[in-house]
Amino acid sequence: MSGEVGSRTSDSGERSAIAVCLLGSTGSIGTQTLDVIRNQPERFEVAVLGAASSVDTLGAQVREFHPKAVAIADSSLAGTLARNVPPGTEVLAGTEGLEQAAQIGDVVLNAVVGFAGLPVTLVALHAGKRLALANKESLVAGAPIVQRARRTQGAEIVPVDSEHCALHQCMRAGLGPDEVARLILTASGGPFRGRASGELEGVSVSEALAHPTWRMGPKVTVDSSTLMNKGLEVIEAHELFGVDYDRIEVIVHPQSVVHSMVAFSDGAVLAQLSEPDMRLPIGYALGYPRRLRHAFGAIDWSTMFHLDFEPPDRKVFACLGLAEQAGREGGLAPAWLNAGNEVAVSAFLDGRIAWGAIAEVVADTLESFDHAVVCEAADVIEADRRARRCADKAVQHRERST
Ligand code: MG
Repeated sequence: MSGEVGSRTSDSGERSAIAVCLLGSTGSIGTQTLDVIRNQPERFEVAVLGAASSVDTLGAQVREFHPKAVAIADSSLAGTLARNVPPGTEVLAGTEGLEQAAQIGDVVLNAVVGFAGLPVTLVALHAGKRLALANKESLVAGAPIVQRARRTQGAEIVPVDSEHCALHQCMRAGLGPDEVARLILTASGGPFRGRASGELEGVSVSEALAHPTWRMGPKVTVDSSTLMNKGLEVIEAHELFGVDYDRIEVIVHPQSVVHSMVAFSDGAVLAQLSEPDMRLPIGYALGYPRRLRHAFGAIDWSTMFHLDFEPPDRKVFACLGLAEQAGREGGLAPAWLNAGNEVAVSAFLDGRIAWGAIAEVVADTLESFDHAVVCEAADVIEADRRARRCADKAVQHRERST
C-alpha cells in the first residue's frame, strides 16, 4: 500500500515509495538488499542499480526491478549490459557512471567492496543524500574528506555494518555529549577463534572463508578471520559517533546475537539483539527513521541458548592492534592500513601468501607511512596508491615459492 508512514513526501504532497540507489548490487549485501526490497515493494522502489563487472547478474536484476538507470564500473561491458536490459533503461559506465548513479534516488546504499567505494560515498554525501553505508573502507580510509562531505545539507550516514547499526539504534534518543561512556563492539571471533599462532600457520583459503555465523563476501570474511574487520570497525565507530579510541572496546561474542552495546554514564548498557541476518540492518538503514514491518533475524526465545563473551587474543590476531594504532595516528594512516590490508587479503586469496603474512604485510605497510597531509580526495587516492606499492613489495618478500 503506498502512503505508508515513513515514505518520502513528493512535491505534490503525495507519499511515495523510497527510491533506492543500490551500488554493488551483485555482491552479498547487494543481493540481500534486493531481498529486503522484494519483501516491501510498497515501501521501496529501485531507482538505479550498479555493479563492478557481473554483467549477467546485473542484467537479470534490472529485468526484475526495472530501475530507470543501471551502472557498470567496467565500461568495456556497457554494450553487453545494454543488450541485456529493457529498452529505455539508461546505461551508465565507468567510474563516472557510478558517480552519476550515486546522485539518483532518496537513499544511496553503498555496497561496493573496498577502497573502490570512496567516490560513491563522497558523491552521495555531496549530493545531500542519505547514505546507507555498507562500505566501511571509504569512511576508514577517506575519513578527513568524508567527514567534510558529511556536513553537506541533507547528507546523513546511516550505517549498514551490523555493529554500527546496533550502536546507532542504541543511541537514537536525544543524548547529551557526556552521557555515552563507552562503545562495546562485538566480534564473532571468526573461524580461528581460540587457536594458537602455531595452529594457524598452514590454514587454507577455504578454512578462512568458513565463517561460523555470517554469510558474507570473501574480502570481509578473510578480514573477519584476522580480526582486521573489527579493527576497521573500531575506526568506523570512532568516525561515525565521534567517541575517542580510549572509550571503544572490542569483545568477542561467538554467537553474533548481540550486535554491539553502548555503556552510559549511569552504568546502564543497551544492546541490540537479533539472529545474524544482514537484512535487518539493511532494512533499518533504507527505511530510517521508520522500522520495517517485516522481521528479519527475530530470536526464538522459547529455546534455551547461551550468550558468551571473552576478550580478543591480540597476540594471535595482531591486525586488531594495528588498526587501532592507525586509527589513533589519524590523518592518512588508516588509508595506508586499509591499502596494505586489501593488497594482503587479495594475495592470500590468490594463494600467494600465508594467512599469518597478512598482518605482517599490513605492519610493513604502516611502517612506511609517510605522514602526508590530506586536503582533498586526490590526496587519499595518492596515499592509497603509494601504500599499495609498499604492500606489493611486502607481499613479494613473503611470497610462497609453490
Ligand atoms: Mg560488521
